[in-house]
Amino acid sequence: MIELEVPLGDRSYRVLVGAGARHRLKEVLPAGVQRVAVVTQESIPVTVDPGVEHRVFIIGEGEHGKDLGTVEDLCRDWAEWGLTRGDCVVAVGGGVVTDTAGFAAAIYHRGIPVVHVATTLLGQVDAAVGGKTGVNLPEGKNLVGAFWQPAAVICDTDVLATLPPREYRNGQGEMAKYAFLGVDRLADLPLEEAVAACVACKAEVVGADEREGGRRAILNYGHTLGHALETAGDYDLRHGEAVAIGLIYAAELALRLGRVDAARVAEHRRVVASYDLPMNLPSGSDPAELIALFARDKKAINGITFVLDGPNGVELVEVIDQAVLLAALEAIQ
Ligand code: NAD
Repeated sequence: MIELEVPLGDRSYRVLVGAGARHRLKEVLPAGVQRVAVVTQESIPVTVDPGVEHRVFIIGEGEHGKDLGTVEDLCRDWAEWGLTRGDCVVAVGGGVVTDTAGFAAAIYHRGIPVVHVATTLLGQVDAAVGGKTGVNLPEGKNLVGAFWQPAAVICDTDVLATLPPREYRNGQGEMAKYAFLGVDRLADLPLEEAVAACVACKAEVVGADEREGGRRAILNYGHTLGHALETAGDYDLRHGEAVAIGLIYAAELALRLGRVDAARVAEHRRVVASYDLPMNLPSGSDPAELIALFARDKKAINGITFVLDGPNGVELVEVIDQAVLLAALEAIQ
């Protein structure tokens, strides 16, 4: 078992990573908790025992279940049960469950503690750690939310055995990102150590910039094209697959801006290929449409902003030259 900490002063919390970590849930609950609301989905074959009185609340599957209606249902069910601020929510699931239950916990009684038990690879290396919670609106993804740090996070690598292969690869797309944020030889590490290395990287970044005033934006490496592909898309791409293509694009862009050399681009291709992830634009992609979408990215303030590798490591860079954006897209066609 590997134990890590997200360093946030008196809101610091533990992250337990390893086989069987879910059996240590009771130990990480805040002191004095008498009741636990477990939030999960029907399809998740993971049970937890909080060791105190608890009830299970089931939410819907997929991005459609991640909405304000689900948050209202949860809060009303908790109120009817009599859940108080001295109790705790335990979210057992992937990013959809931890984002939705985390947000409901953030606003119920103006905030009650939440512990995340992440059951997808993407949840373990990314979504469950860092305190971003939220839901979708019909107008767009993740448009309503709150920063609400969990009291603890559990990443039990045993539960990943039942994850469908496509969902596992989805998580590997986010994992590949960390290989360029300073995690060395990630693909060579055993699963438990690889998850822990990603969590440690995210914990360090979140500890330095909890609310994305600056440095936290580097966690969006590969995401500008990734998001554009998801938005443009009737493409059959999971988030992690879109990010994988976005990582290769970011490297090709950095090459054309003189920030990295060809060997560094080759390194990006090697890492992404080692996870068996896609590296090229889906057929039928329209470069002009993708470039138009870059400008609508949440990070874009004045123009088109990318997270790019370079001599100082990965950082936020404004890219104005459309010809360069286009040339790099051609390199991944
Ligand atoms: P998901 O939560 O939809 O889970 C994928 C599927 O796997 C679901 O059908 C789920 O029921 C199933 N599943 C979960 N655990 C399982 C298990 N152990 N065995 C078998 N099946 C299991 O998808 P996800 O990729 O985990 O999360 C995506 C969401 O995360 C998106 O909404 C995204 O916006 C959010 N996200 C949030 C953050 C953040 O910082 N808060 C970061 C990245 C992504």
